This record gives sequence, C-alpha cells and structure tokens, in this order.
Amino acid sequence: MKIDLHCHSHYSDGKHSPGFLVQLAIENRVSHLAITDHDCIAALTEAEIEVEKSTAALKLISGVEISCDWEGSEIHVLGLWFDPKDRHMGELLCRQQHKRRRRVLKMHELLQSQGDYDLMAYLNTLPCHALSRSHVADYLVDQGICKNRQKAFKTHLGKGGRLYVEAHWCSLEQAITTINNGGGIAVLAHPGRYPLGKHRLQSLVDEFASYGGEAMEVSYGNIDPKTKRRLADLAVSKSLYASIGSDFHDAAAHWTTIGKAPPLEIGAHKNAIWAHPGWQS
Ligand code: AMP
Ligand code: MN
Ligand code: MN
Ligand code: MN
Repeated sequence: MKIDLHCHSHYSDGKHSPGFLVQLAIENRVSHLAITDHDCIAALTEAEIEVEKSTAALKLISGVEISCDWEGSEIHVLGLWFDPKDRHMGELLCRQQHKRRRRVLKMHELLQSQGDYDLMAYLNTLPCHALSRSHVADYLVDQGICKNRQKAFKTHLGKGGRLYVEAHWCSLEQAITTINNGGGIAVLAHPGRYPLGKHRLQSLVDEFASYGGEAMEVSYGNIDPKTKRRLADLAVSKSLYASIGSDFHDAAAHWTTIGKAPPLEIGAHKNAIWAHPGWQS
C-alpha cells in the first residue's frame, strides 16, 4: 500500500489537471489517492473518469483542504472520505470560494492603483475555482513586478506586503463538523509548518480533537526526520490517526512528486489512517 492523501490540481493552486495527477499516481504506484484542493472538490469527477479509463488498481478518495482561522493563525484541515454531494459541505466551500474571490478582487484594485495592471483578466483565464495568493504571485512574476514567487510573498502578498489583504476563513469547528457530518474524516494538515511553539501546537491539536478531528499528517513532501518523529509521537499521545500526503502542486518542483513522502515508522501502523474503521480499501 502506498498512499498519498494530499495534493492539488489546477482547480486550486496546483499546476496540473486531475487527469495528470491520476496518471502520475499510477506511474508512481500509488494505491490510494486523495486530491485535496484548497476549498474545492471540482477535481474528483475528472479524476474518477481518468481512473475508469485505466486498468490500474488506484483507489480514489474524496478530499479537500479547508482554510480555517484559529486564534489569529491560518490552519488547514483536510477532509477525506466525505460524501462529495453533501449539501452542507457544498455550501461551506461555496462561501470559502466567494471569500477567495473577494480577496483577490481587493488585491486587483490595490494593484490597479499602482499601475496599468489587470489581475482579474489574468485570473479569469485560469480553470481555478479557489483563487489564492499563489495565482497572484504568478501574475506578479509574469508582469516582471517580482523576480520569483518567494519574493512576491515577501514584498507583496505576505502579512504587511503591498497587496496584503487579510483573510477571514471559517472556524476549525465549522470545518471539522462539516467534514464529519458529511461522513468524512478530518485530518490536521502539515502540523509542523505552522508558526506555533510546542505548547500552542499541543493546544491546537487538543482543540482539533475536541471538535471531532480524528487524524493528523505526520509525513509530507519536504518533512525532516526530526519533525516526522515529533509529529508521530504527538499523534500517538493524542490518540489521533497518522496520515501521509505529498502536498504536491507542480511537477516543476523537483523536490516532491505524487506518492513521495517518507513512510510511517515501523511500529506506527497501529494508528495509521488505514486502520481507521471508515477506511475502505
Ligand atoms: P491563500 O490560500 O490565498 O492564502 O494562499 C496560500 C497559498 O500560497 C498556500 O497554499 C501556498 O501554496 C502558497 N504560499 C503561501 N506562502 C508562500 C510563500 N511564502 N511562498 C510561496 N508560496 C506560498
Ligand atoms: Mn497550496
Ligand atoms: Mn496547506
Ligand atoms: Mn496543501
């Protein structure tokens, strides 16, 4: 079994189509794949069609990555295995997408006041349903305003940047409740990437679990062995299932690919996400 339960298509800030992701998963011998676009589940139907066309034994799992506000920090919660037709999930994602559109519209207005730019015209050419700052970064690089994505976030899109617009996402509780009511499993995404100290991370995990969150990622694309060990211990101590995902966005980023995240430690399989009673192989 080789699982990848976190990656992005061009319906959010990934570069590739769902069909491309499925082909890459098959090439890399992935057995279970979830495409977890930011606040959007448009990839699933296309991915299903691609799997049906092939003879590979690839199991597709419904997935999403929901942006949440938690005590002044932005936290990402993955939903897996939920019913993609669930009405409440549809409504929540619709609200989140609307917030994303309004946010980039404000950035468009800020940029217009700085020169002859039409960010929205560029964004409207994309297949994306969940617009993000990454798309704005691409535009800034394309227009020669910034040298690369990193610089775009540093000078324009990060907190205090020239185009920074605050985001107001749903709460952690709303995301988890919606995932659970839709029959899914809520997974705390990349817990080692938040700028939180040890105690704040512990209280995030406690609060996440108190709302019904059942799993956390303990392995992702660029994780270092020490962080992986620390997260594996945290998952065990909080009785959470351990999940794995590459967080793949783009084949041009050679440091990761679909299916490429370090495996769980031997002995950690008792709390691996595939041991969850809701896991269907
Ligand atoms: P948004 O969801 O609109 O706030 O955009 C956040 C997305 O931008 C994240 O999911 C990342 O893919 C990307 N991102 C955030 N910070 C950076 C950064 N410093 N450099 C490059 N990409 C970033
Ligand atoms: Mn992203
Ligand atoms: Mn994320
Ligand atoms: Mn992600």
